[in-house]
Amino acid sequence: MRPFTYSRAEDEGAAAEAAAGGATFIAGGTNLLDLMKLEVMTPEALVDINRLDLNTISQTEDGGLRIGALVTNSDCAADPRVRADYAVLAKAILAGASGQLRNKATTGGNLCQRTRCYYFYDTAMACNKREPGSGCGAIGGVNRLHAILGASDQCIATYPGDMAVALAALDADVEIRSSDGSEKTVPVTEFHRLPGDMPEKDNILESGDLITAVTLPPKPGGTHVYRKVRDRSSYAFALVSVAAIARMDAGKISDIRLAFGGIAHKPWRDPAVEDILKGEAPSDALFEKAADILLKDAEGQGSNDFKIPLARRTLTAVLRQATGSGAS
Ligand code: SF4
Repeated sequence: MRPFTYSRAEDEGAAAEAAAGGATFIAGGTNLLDLMKLEVMTPEALVDINRLDLNTISQTEDGGLRIGALVTNSDCAADPRVRADYAVLAKAILAGASGQLRNKATTGGNLCQRTRCYYFYDTAMACNKREPGSGCGAIGGVNRLHAILGASDQCIATYPGDMAVALAALDADVEIRSSDGSEKTVPVTEFHRLPGDMPEKDNILESGDLITAVTLPPKPGGTHVYRKVRDRSSYAFALVSVAAIARMDAGKISDIRLAFGGIAHKPWRDPAVEDILKGEAPSDALFEKAADILLKDAEGQGSNDFKIPLARRTLTAVLRQATGSGAS
């Protein structure tokens, strides 16, 4: 590990000032410390933001929830309001990592976790995300975990998290404070980016930007499902995951929101998949049509070709479960 300086910020202004000077924020450190030990990330200065007043969950004026950026994953998943009204979020969080990691990992940090591409973590290998212009070891290499949608010829990595997949289905927003003190709010579906020709940039954060909270709209109702398919039953990243919130009315799907993990560089949401389902009576034929739409541009990279049929089967099983239309 390279030498670095460490300081604690007592308020958001001090944190922003430190970040404007080039410091990297640290909160739970559950991904950053690993990356520093491997010298994949080599910040010269860390500013600890754990003392900022960002660790509460509160009701918003419109009846939604505001989850502070420093609320731990464990506390978020255990909150009675989250469990009752946003069950897909609690389920997704509890599907990720381990109890010990969830006790340290924070809401803001979880959004910023980096890909688990093997080549990204191995500094001896080519990786455009770690070192722009060096190439991509995963293209033509070992790519079992990699993307089937939205990849580029520069990078085929996937976003590894679970929490953000549920947040995408919930239409959550991310609140961000910039180093100049200005504030902005972006939909979580626009927070992460596709790799394009800048795979080094995972999300829309600019230097010095601090995530302050995630806000959830009023409770969506309906049936909440989060299904994660992985190599082990715990402590493993998603090969494919699906978050679903479905509302039924008179035997038809009155509303449905679907988000997918493990298949792209960002939590994947495709309105066309939802549109074909809305207003229709659930059936296997309908669910297969939805999968056709989801996967029409899917492309395997060799070792991950299996993800295309796996995503189809996972989606159709989740749709059966969420709409109450048969065994899943
Ligand atoms: Fe790096 Fe992306 Fe290629 Fe992995 S897929 S080696 S993260 S450029």
